[in-house]
Amino acid sequence: MGVGTPENLLESIGCGMDMFDCVLPTRNGRNAMLFTREGSLNLRNAAYKKDFSQIDAHCECYACRKFTRSYLRHLFLAKEILALQLATIHNLTFYLWLLREARTAIQERRFYTWKSSVLEQLGVEIPTV
Ligand SMILES: [Zn+2]
Repeated sequence: MGVGTPENLLESIGCGMDMFDCVLPTRNGRNAMLFTREGSLNLRNAAYKKDFSQIDAHCECYACRKFTRSYLRHLFLAKEILALQLATIHNLTFYLWLLREARTAIQERRFYTWKSSVLEQLGVEIPTV
């Protein structure tokens, strides 16, 4: 319960856990924080005001196919409920992608190398021992 961030999930999977329950993807989505394959975004930031790109260039969810970062930011600032719904759809799609990829990497016996590359892609600092 309560696990968690993408890095928490991958670390836990590496320890053998295979079941999770957490509000993070939906709660963060409702607060304009979206997970992408290049790291997370806070769409309330002014940097996205004129960013007409897809939320996550590699995601094929409804929110990414139909709306830009700029428009979703506008919806958040206007307090439109659609913003929360679209962000939730996207973040859940991201988590499903992440776990599907983890499952495939385990089946192909390359989980730890895949995990390192994904964490690097997500911009997560990997502690050195
Ligand atoms: Zn998406």
